[in-house]
Amino acid sequence: MSNIRANLEEIRNRIDGAARKVGRDPARIRLVAVSKKVPVEMLREARACGQRLFGENYLQEAAAKIAELGPGFEWHFIGHLQSNKGAQAAGLFDLVETVDRLKVATALDRARAGSGRVLPVLLQVNIGRESQKSGVLPEEAEALLRQLQGLPNLLVRGLMVMPPFLDDPEAVRPFFRATRELAVKLADLGLLPPPGQTELSMGMSGDYQVAVEEGATLVRVGTALFGVRE
Ligand SMILES: *Cc1c(COP(=O)(O)O)cnc(C)c1O
Repeated sequence: MSNIRANLEEIRNRIDGAARKVGRDPARIRLVAVSKKVPVEMLREARACGQRLFGENYLQEAAAKIAELGPGFEWHFIGHLQSNKGAQAAGLFDLVETVDRLKVATALDRARAGSGRVLPVLLQVNIGRESQKSGVLPEEAEALLRQLQGLPNLLVRGLMVMPPFLDDPEAVRPFFRATRELAVKLADLGLLPPPGQTELSMGMSGDYQVAVEEGATLVRVGTALFGVRE
């Protein structure tokens, strides 16, 4: 027996509650159902419960699922991207959340050239300055965004972060807050959409409510929705 419907309801209620607590409009926050290693039947079930947006980490796995599930789904790429896979990612996904260097951005841009379809992306920031994590360092974000402005087929809609994994979600709050403050600064420079329209992808199963309180517009939840992955 799967609890997808109940889990979705509970997550949505918690998102809405966290938003209201800080005076935000709950409609401004979207749930990205993180479906890596989750079988397509469970994605179908989530879709039948109204969940439309899914996040995948691995290109091969995603390609198979996207082909099998067909239209009516929206897909975000949230994994580590290599520039030689840019064309494939640009062909499969509606938005790429993990752009963190010019080479990858250039590959995505080229893949959409002449298509008439600008690819929305997020800039991944290594907000916790962890050596093992992807993402541009906060102080390097401005320079990279200036370079990305020269790519006509990409549109940077906001920031994505994976803060340090900490048991206490309150301990993660300062990283979410720093992300929002960085986004405001970059929006003031004209490098991101204005604050009300900037996307902030932050928060996972253990800390998405805190992320919403700090301004997340996309929360990426896997385990709390589909259960523990193998
Ligand atoms: C796997 C993953 C998630 C979801 O993590 P859970 O703890 O299962 O909710 C979110 N974001 C990224 C980038 C991931 O790789």
